[in-house]
Amino acid sequence: MEVATADTQPRARRKRSKPARRQVRDTSRVVAAVLDLRAGECRWPVGDPRSDDFTFCRAEALPGISYCETHSREASGGRPAIAISARMLAA
Ligand SMILES: [Zn+2]
Repeated sequence: MEVATADTQPRARRKRSKPARRQVRDTSRVVAAVLDLRAGECRWPVGDPRSDDFTFCRAEALPGISYCETHSREASGGRPAIAISARMLAA
């Protein structure tokens, strides 16, 4: 019976009977995509985070900004990228 204790806990953790478990899996997929990003790559999300083809733009990001030129403008509603940088510093 020495194995029973060690074996029972991991199995109980892996049970996927609750819908919430799927959300956790989906979140870890997004986290994996974030961790896959390199410094200087645009972090603009592309696609549905719940789908397998979710990724990030990954274009060259502007210095000091998390997004490329196109997406920094989109994130700020069309204003120049510098506005986002100032907002991020204030936050
Ligand atoms: Zn981008």
